[in-house]
Amino acid sequence: MDSLKAILSQSPEGQTVTACGWVRTKRDGKNISFIALNDGSCLSNLQVVVDKENDSVSNETLARCGTGASLQVTGKLVASEGGGQNAEIHADTITVLGDTSETFPLQKKHHSVEFLREIAHLRARTNTFAAVARIRSAMSYAVHTFFQQNGFFYVHTPIITANDCEGAGQMFQVTTLDLDTIARKELKDGIDYTQDFFGKKASLTVSGQLSAETYACALSRVYTFGPTFRAENSNTTRHLAEFWMIEPEIAFCTLEGNMEIAEAFIKFILKYVLENCKEDMEFFDTRIQKGVIETLRQVVEKPFVRITYTEAIEHLAKAADSFEFKPVWGCDLQTEHEKYLTETVFNGPVIVTDYPKEIKAFYMKQNDDGKTVRAMDILVPRLGEIIGGSEREADYGKLVARMKELGLKEEDYSWYLDLRRFGTVPHSGFGLGFERLILYITGMANIRDVIPYPRTVKNAEF
Ligand code: ATP
Ligand code: MN
Repeated sequence: MDSLKAILSQSPEGQTVTACGWVRTKRDGKNISFIALNDGSCLSNLQVVVDKENDSVSNETLARCGTGASLQVTGKLVASEGGGQNAEIHADTITVLGDTSETFPLQKKHHSVEFLREIAHLRARTNTFAAVARIRSAMSYAVHTFFQQNGFFYVHTPIITANDCEGAGQMFQVTTLDLDTIARKELKDGIDYTQDFFGKKASLTVSGQLSAETYACALSRVYTFGPTFRAENSNTTRHLAEFWMIEPEIAFCTLEGNMEIAEAFIKFILKYVLENCKEDMEFFDTRIQKGVIETLRQVVEKPFVRITYTEAIEHLAKAADSFEFKPVWGCDLQTEHEKYLTETVFNGPVIVTDYPKEIKAFYMKQNDDGKTVRAMDILVPRLGEIIGGSEREADYGKLVARMKELGLKEEDYSWYLDLRRFGTVPHSGFGLGFERLILYITGMANIRDVIPYPRTVKNAEF
């Protein structure tokens, strides 16, 4: 059975084809009915023309072809007379595979994304959500293609971790202990985790970085691409509790090399989508975010702006009155600051480097100034941060000293410190939130709408 995409790419010469799909709409004329059929293989519908005089499609069958029904249609593929499509199928037979009814929620009218989120199990049958799903798939492929072409090995870092040291965000605990029983007992000494499944406290990973570093210090270039979990109570359009993260880790690589790879990576994905997802991108360009294609093209063409954190603060200070949070040296950049830099000052992606060490993680390489670290974030218009990365501290003494300052226990990190004890090398990496990149590329407004079943605070439906 050919997909509608394959059928629509044939030249229509009256050949007999069989098409399957779901009815988007049906229009009944006096002698002719038109059915728009879609199977999700592409954005376009196949127009099915039913001649009511034709005995092989009964009025009874036609009556069952309402929005949402699934059909198998056999007929002749001919050039279309009406506008809007090249080819249409003149139905000889229609088999209703699955009936529908008037209660099907996606009747022909505009539905808000908020409403569609409540029927997430059906929303992929709309143009927008099917297009997002196809782009997400193409981008996944492009992610692997980029890394595989550049000598990176795909490493599967653990989802469940008993490291207390990932530190990138609030963690979800994983336990088989019976919480009800525990709640009823009075525990003077706290919970005995030796009785738990792993014999100690375990959680879902917030980042695969530390494990990726161990493999980078063996295979040189590795990446992870998998689900990541953060129990952060942030109800924004950019945060999920479960999201997919891409994390390359590169040995023999300083911050400069890291930035080069990150920029080349983003450009590769943008280019791939522009070249391979034309129909869907035109849809986003006209229906979701006007001009997004041209914006992405320009991003691919131009080098990313690079500034230090200190320079960023200087830019922001000039517009200090326009911010809710005053930009002072030492503060973390807020989304409003990131948007100002990318939208007002530079009008494109910006790489900000050398952040104050106090607002960054313990493992980042310390600069000689004693104040900043070799961190880099990539910020983009509309979203702010999409990448966070750094050169890692490769010096055992400096790393241990920084851990002491932060009150981290050396014994909790002994395996991580081994990388600096035995054959340490300069190495770097970054993390990119896959859904943020999808938002950037599609122009969709809310991160809940670029993953099939979003998990956020107080929401794990479907
Ligand atoms: P933010 O400040 O935006 O919350 P972060 O600094 O906490 O992000 P990192 O720990 O640097 O994030 O994670 C690396 C990347 O993962 C981020 O640049 C972002 O693209 C993505 N990311 C982080 N948290 C989330 C989340 N809750 N949902 C979706 N993507 C996320
Ligand atoms: Mn970050």
